[in-house]
Amino acid sequence: MTTYRALQVANSRQFSLTDRELTAPEPGHVRLKVEYCGVCHSDVLAVEGLRDDPTAPVVPGHEIVGVIDAVGEGVRAWHVGERVGVGFLGGHCGECDFCRRGDFVNCTDQPRTGTDVDGGYAEYAYARTSGLVRVPAGLSSSDAAPLLCAGITTYSALRDLNARPGSLVAIQGIGGLGHLGVQYAKALGYRVAAIARGTEKAELARQLGADEYVDSTAADPGQALEKLGGAAAVVATAASGSSMSPLVAGLAPRGKMVVVGAALDPISVATPDLIFGTRTVTGSLTGSAIENEDSLAFAAARDVRPMNEVVPWTDAPQAYERMMSGKARFRVVLDLAA
Ligand code: ZN
Ligand code: ZN
Repeated sequence: MTTYRALQVANSRQFSLTDRELTAPEPGHVRLKVEYCGVCHSDVLAVEGLRDDPTAPVVPGHEIVGVIDAVGEGVRAWHVGERVGVGFLGGHCGECDFCRRGDFVNCTDQPRTGTDVDGGYAEYAYARTSGLVRVPAGLSSSDAAPLLCAGITTYSALRDLNARPGSLVAIQGIGGLGHLGVQYAKALGYRVAAIARGTEKAELARQLGADEYVDSTAADPGQALEKLGGAAAVVATAASGSSMSPLVAGLAPRGKMVVVGAALDPISVATPDLIFGTRTVTGSLTGSAIENEDSLAFAAARDVRPMNEVVPWTDAPQAYERMMSGKARFRVVLDLAA
């Protein structure tokens, strides 16, 4: 075989099925035979042309699980036949100032998988070894795929909290990120409050491990958290800044709101809510490759699993629409074998 099929996109939403030449991986890179690739909201960067040169086609997809089938020159620790994942951050450079300080997520020379370089809507993908994530045996490839971006995003936000086991942690938004956030938070030993609009998701939230459910349309969700004793942390996943604004007042003293849902509108914060109670509003950006590996191992051990809609990969344009519609329950995953 000398070519492989890939679904590339150019400009805005111009998908096309194409044949790419199968080449040897570059030095320091591996080639993967892709098994599954998740469809994530950040795919908008590629699909809607929100990148430097939207006329140049790129293959979207940054929740890639596959098997290494070739290694480039200089690769020592990764081998043909290993099952690995690649997430949004496509591998740090190891040489910039941030890397030299060990801050790999802020590397200034790190490709964004499926945006700056080709991603996983394809039969094969290439990746820097510094971006590779080992997939534990106890986790299926289709389950691992969404954990590589949605999973690590919520896991990192929760792992970096300085909150006592048993303290109240709220997950705002029970969707692609939030349904994983509730499971991770419960498994990490917190008392979990799920916050969503309406009562429709209350039962599901409990099944995922939530101890409390807050309907943000019924009452001010910040006040509701206050009534529950105040949250040590809120992980905000909804793509709406205004929906996050009232939550700051629901934080306990020294509480932290960690924003992981990208929104077009800003969050507004009353300054006294930050000062009195010394509260914090911060963001979290996925995690490094080894942290992603930790997240997968934790998920495998503690039964954290995404709820997936698995579809044949050539249906990616429709899968993307499905993800964008907000109707998917909860992650859409492309099956490259189908
Ligand atoms: Zn770097
Ligand atoms: Zn993503």
